[in-house]
Amino acid sequence: MDLVAKRVVVMGLGRHGGGVGVTQFLVEQGADVLVTDLLAEDRLQDSLAALRDLPVDFRLGNHNVSDFTGADLIIANPAVDPRDNRFLRAAHAAGVPITSEVRLLVERLPNRARTIGVTGTAGKSTVTSMIGRALDRCFPTDTVHVGGNLGGSLLGSLAAMRDSDWVVLELSSFMLEGLEHDRWSPHIAVVTNLWPNHLDRHGSASAYAAAKAVITRHQQPGDFAVLGPALDPEAFVTQGKTIRVGHSADTDQAPIDLMISGNHNQLNARLAIRAAECAGATPADASKALTGFAGLPHRLEHVGTWDGVAFYNDSKCTTPEGACLAIQSVGSTGRAGSQPTKRVHIILGGYDKHADLSQLASFAAKHCVAVYTIGATGDTIADEVTRNGGTARRCQELQEVVRAAVGSAQPGEIVLLSPGCASWDQFDDFEQRGRAFSQAVRDHVARRS
Ligand code: ADP
Repeated sequence: MDLVAKRVVVMGLGRHGGGVGVTQFLVEQGADVLVTDLLAEDRLQDSLAALRDLPVDFRLGNHNVSDFTGADLIIANPAVDPRDNRFLRAAHAAGVPITSEVRLLVERLPNRARTIGVTGTAGKSTVTSMIGRALDRCFPTDTVHVGGNLGGSLLGSLAAMRDSDWVVLELSSFMLEGLEHDRWSPHIAVVTNLWPNHLDRHGSASAYAAAKAVITRHQQPGDFAVLGPALDPEAFVTQGKTIRVGHSADTDQAPIDLMISGNHNQLNARLAIRAAECAGATPADASKALTGFAGLPHRLEHVGTWDGVAFYNDSKCTTPEGACLAIQSVGSTGRAGSQPTKRVHIILGGYDKHADLSQLASFAAKHCVAVYTIGATGDTIADEVTRNGGTARRCQELQEVVRAAVGSAQPGEIVLLSPGCASWDQFDDFEQRGRAFSQAVRDHVARRS
């Protein structure tokens, strides 16, 4: 669609740069833009500052249905469910097309043969960043753009993008659901793993899996699907070549020299290396490029060690399976297959996504010295932990947790925030939760010394 003089509504400005990027792009294209967000002005300050000098209308703190029904096009934030939102339903009924930032981007990318998409329930951001780093170092003369769900917007880079540039996109299930309308899949698709998640929105595990499968569904001969070991290749139908990583038939088991712990990060690195190989890199170069990869903030991030107690911020962990892995990663000796020794004080709980938390609770009861719970799921988890013979303490705030954990942790032990739940009940996002934890730890340590 030509955007000149079109009335375009950006629904959900957000705080991660996607809404800002799309608004800037639309204005540049000559569209007449209205930005609307349920959050009030004071919660969107950084995003609004970035748009200050642009000719944009705003409706903040609420939505107005006539803005939607009277638009020529709506750009919906991927976090909004079009089936469940009365404004989008009204727009749909009025025949107004609805799209997303990533769809605008994908429709305009100069060369699909240079696209890599990464999805999965966990590990997307890590693998996307690893691939970006590997391509940057293996192909120093090519420009590599990394984006999608990772944050920001690549729409602003489009004008300068050349056919030879690589575009690496982290794709959430919500984004993929939208891309199904364009029948688009990337040249190289990477799927880390898949277990039920976001069931509050997708409704069922099979609907969630079907959304994820868009990443390979429209691939063509000559494309690649790089799949993690626990995935059923039949769930990711492709006309390209399927490559299974970490599977028993995969002979390449050499550890990669990362600065982050966990068998899952070794697997993430192997997925990234295979993707880089599909892009034309040698395995040796790709592996070397990842040496020293220090991970991303809020993913098993080492906040510091004080009086022999190590603090880890894994706020990005929003699934119960991820929290079990985190306990294993920081609490075990590092030997392949070793079980966590009882050294971890774990902080669990948050927004209720209707995930089954009972296995996480029993795993934590068995393998952790103590469990602290916060947020909407805090009571459920604490009850389950106690039922399984563990020690649980229900807390209201992270400051309270940190005080209690520091009071009881012994030298050599670990305090780990790996909530296994989303953050939206108490925080704007996982970054805010992670920062609150790290700050509470530092404040507490400063007060004591
Ligand atoms: P995503 O972008 O999919 O949310 P991240 O790379 O940000 O994933 O990692 C988030 C959390 O998911 C990590 O802190 C870790 O707990 C868990 N995780 C990362 N990689 C994997 C993996 N390959 N398998 C299982 N869990 C993982």
